[in-house]
Amino acid sequence: MIVVMRSGVDRDEVRAVVARLEALGFAAHLSEGKERTVIGAIGDRSVLEAASLEAMPGVERLVPIRQPFKLASREFQKESTVVNVGGVPVGGDRLVVIAGPCAVESREQVMATAAAVKAAGAHMLRGGAFKPRSSPYTFQGMEEEGLRILADARQRYGMPIVTEVMSPDAVELVAEYADCLQIGTRNMQNFQLLREAGRSRRPVLLKRGMAATIQEWLMAAEYVLSEGNRQVILCERGIRTFETATRFTLDLNAVPVAKELSHLPVIVDPSHGTGRAALVTPLARAAIAAGADGVILEVHPNPAEALSDGPQSVTPAEFERMMQDLRRVGEAVGRGLQSPAPAPVRVRVEAD
Ligand code: PEP
Ligand code: MN
Repeated sequence: MIVVMRSGVDRDEVRAVVARLEALGFAAHLSEGKERTVIGAIGDRSVLEAASLEAMPGVERLVPIRQPFKLASREFQKESTVVNVGGVPVGGDRLVVIAGPCAVESREQVMATAAAVKAAGAHMLRGGAFKPRSSPYTFQGMEEEGLRILADARQRYGMPIVTEVMSPDAVELVAEYADCLQIGTRNMQNFQLLREAGRSRRPVLLKRGMAATIQEWLMAAEYVLSEGNRQVILCERGIRTFETATRFTLDLNAVPVAKELSHLPVIVDPSHGTGRAALVTPLARAAIAAGADGVILEVHPNPAEALSDGPQSVTPAEFERMMQDLRRVGEAVGRGLQSPAPAPVRVRVEAD
């Protein structure tokens, strides 16, 4: 249920309604929009209906939220959320590009990739230090050493970093280094992980499960939001279908559908969505044209030697050409790319 407050309501009235909701056993989630303050009340609806909240000062009306996801829904919050990742806004007027290797393999590889993507205009650096590999016999990631390398790359190139966290126990460690916690497709319904990420202060990039419906994806976001972390970015990364010509089927329908149902920003991953480097640029262009708030993609200085996802990684030169295309498509749909990340504030790294 949403408690819609009258316009111009005063703070004490809002506080009183929140206190009353909490006394009734509800979790009260405040949303202060430009036009209206609303309070999301999550709990047993019949209790609320019996509590005659409408009689309280400042309350205009009670509106049920029809969707099963509540805090994630546009019904709860009309205005689009802008998530701030280390100073870079995601979901605002301008588009964001997150680029970097699938996995952190070495200091040299990360620094070379970061330098190249930064020069081409990327806003954030991605790279996995904990890798969810389909086979236990393949490279599993550099773990904390990988996180340290990413943190050094952030300092050197002034780009916030996005990196995956795979288990609830690792959230605290990854959050120490990362600007944004990525939750991968295989973990989209790891509810303990979602809750733990919801308790962290870091923004969360939530990839869609490869076999999850859009509703299940938004319910997963709800887990994070319901723990008090409102900084969630949705990422469409391809789903399993009968098609075998590409690694996954990038579901671009999900972009306008998720944006209609939810106020959360939506970005697209054309690397995992296609599995083939040659398809990354066309699908990145299509994602922007479909209304995505940005893209996340894999770039490797030498894809043939990548320890993971080489076939879908573009080279720095291909990335630079793609950025020119994205600028044009962005302008055509009325959304330019953000200006490049500002220069780093502190530059101090170990020799690479
Ligand atoms: C990744 O980003 O490298 C990754 C493993 O993504 P996904 O969870 O979408 O497969
Ligand atoms: Mn990958």
